[in-house]
Amino acid sequence: MIMPRKPRKKCLFCGKETLRVECKYCSNACQIEYQHESYIKRWKEGKESGLQSIGLVSKYVKKYLRKSVVCVDGQRLTLKPNRFH
Ligand SMILES: [Zn+2]
Repeated sequence: MIMPRKPRKKCLFCGKETLRVECKYCSNACQIEYQHESYIKRWKEGKESGLQSIGLVSKYVKKYLRKSVVCVDGQRLTLKPNRFH
């Protein structure tokens, strides 16, 4: 007889089942990646300035920037694909 399994959520980032019902992600790494991606998405949509309140570039943006070329356009940061990568 098959015992009914507790339904587990799928990791928001990679889609694997999470280890616990209350978890949204299968691992810390996935949580960090997901938060990073959602921040960048909001940034591209103009919902985030890409800057922290004291005028520093957000850590999420910094990470993203390693893959891209950034231009400062007035008060906002804009991105161009890095053709060297
Ligand atoms: Zn995952």
